[in-house]
Amino acid sequence: MKGTRASVDVGGVLHTGRELEVREALALPDFGSFSFPAPVDVTFTIRRIGRGLDVRGTVDGSAEGACARCLDDVKVHLELDVDERLEPGSDTGDPLGENNVLNGDQLDLQDLVRQVIDSALPLAVLCGEACAGLCTTCGHKRDGICRCAHPE
Ligand SMILES: [Zn+2]
Ligand SMILES: [Zn+2]
Repeated sequence: MKGTRASVDVGGVLHTGRELEVREALALPDFGSFSFPAPVDVTFTIRRIGRGLDVRGTVDGSAEGACARCLDDVKVHLELDVDERLEPGSDTGDPLGENNVLNGDQLDLQDLVRQVIDSALPLAVLCGEACAGLCTTCGHKRDGICRCAHPE
């Protein structure tokens, strides 16, 4: 966990308008059907815009999920551009506002990155477009060790 911060103090940005560069290797908890075997690289530039913040940058890393058909592990490469407006308080139309990513001077980096990744990941991943899934007879992958006859 060395060199990682789950949240960032953005008081300087909010109160003085100073730009803040954030570079973190951020460990993420599992969410949805995805897990994160290694920390993701987060590079953000945070600026003040009006009463809120403008967060731009990139999130790089990889997620692991299970193929929706055969349940094999699937690695999903993440290379995301981030461009988010964050408003203080939760009474705005900002889709991130309701989750209180910005709480006073604390920006919940982990939650923000989690939401960015969550909206970028597909609901279901496949190990390959041609994945034939599992055999309903033997339970093995149909294009693997299954030797059952499959009339089609
Ligand atoms: Zn598969
Ligand atoms: Zn089979």
